[in-house]
Amino acid sequence: MTFSPLFSLNSKGLPGAVVSALRSVLGSRESGLHEPHFIGNEINYLNECIRSGYVSSIGPFVSKFESDLASYTGINHAVAVVNGTAALHVALILSGVKPNDEVLVPALTFVATANAVHYCNAIPHFVDSAVDTLGIDPISLRNYLSTFCEIRGAECINKITGRVIRVIVPMHTFGHPVNMEELCLVAEEFCITVVEDAAEALGSTFMDRHAGSFGLISTLSFNGNKTITTGGGGAILTNDPEIAERARHLTTTAKLPHRWTFEHNELGYNYRMPNLNAALGVAQLEKIPEILSAKRLLFNRYLKAFSRVRGVSLFVEPEHCRSNYWLQVLLLDDTHLSERLAVIEATNNEGYGTRPCWNLLPTMPHLAGGPCAPLPVAQQLVSRIINLPSSPFLV
Ligand SMILES: *Cc1c(COP(=O)(O)O)cnc(C)c1O
Repeated sequence: MTFSPLFSLNSKGLPGAVVSALRSVLGSRESGLHEPHFIGNEINYLNECIRSGYVSSIGPFVSKFESDLASYTGINHAVAVVNGTAALHVALILSGVKPNDEVLVPALTFVATANAVHYCNAIPHFVDSAVDTLGIDPISLRNYLSTFCEIRGAECINKITGRVIRVIVPMHTFGHPVNMEELCLVAEEFCITVVEDAAEALGSTFMDRHAGSFGLISTLSFNGNKTITTGGGGAILTNDPEIAERARHLTTTAKLPHRWTFEHNELGYNYRMPNLNAALGVAQLEKIPEILSAKRLLFNRYLKAFSRVRGVSLFVEPEHCRSNYWLQVLLLDDTHLSERLAVIEATNNEGYGTRPCWNLLPTMPHLAGGPCAPLPVAQQLVSRIINLPSSPFLV
């Protein structure tokens, strides 16, 4: 029996074939890249906030959301904050990042990962990704660090800049976990603390442990386009009770608890999540099993449809991982790179909200010129990735 690649028989070439494959999965409805999905108690809980008057930064839903997050991820403590970027900022402070330290960050990530490093007056040092996870590649990282770092008094020193490399921030790209076993080994070898940017990875696991449970601290985002949303929101996760306590203090303007006095014992931030947002979060988290299975079903439908298109493949969760499939990833073969923009344009013209991935961070003016590893894989990934409409209600 011969198998004919159905959609590439289309006369419109690869862009036409991708449109046909998308149509076979999504029908003709318009679809954004990732839209929120409210199928549970959202309205009930919001009403409860308004009836009770607890709409702001104190209220029962904040504590409930925090304990629900902790039990869902298996991480002991969760501190809910206003967004994922604020969560990263405080996580970096609490991981010991000092002004003029270097922080290893993937070049292929959302800009917030590196911006948070600058908020600490530290310097992002960009590193390469792996093709099999789309996140930091521990193998090339080890080789890279071996060439120019030395350990002095339990600190990793960049011999070229003379600065301390204090922290590494692996980011689980589009929900696919980094190889955290290898990455933690390399970090330990070089005395570097791990802070995970798990903004995209709620519901993903590596070796049956939740993404975000490997580092000293990790962060989540509940922005409107993430797997679950609180409107805007984020969380700081840690197994360390003292760090959790410090996170709660710093995000509450460092106010000392007292019935009436205003005493703030250090520089703090107004980063606590309001009760209204947490109410949404509690309702959303109740439905995460349904959301994740819908996203996996969508992945399987895309996998089948795109197996018939020559020149592209669908990115499949890495080994030992169960991914949340936050954003579906179509990869162009090397021979079709020149058609990337044509594919994005043709699909958007038909109402399918496909997107390129981020530009590499060191190409952005405020992040250019700093320390940077060779980025052959990240560069190649940027030219190959197209994100497909990924909302859970598309199936
Ligand atoms: C969404 C996201 C964040 C944080 O985003 P906020 O909009 O501040 O909640 C951080 N890092 C990555 C990789 C993200 O995708």
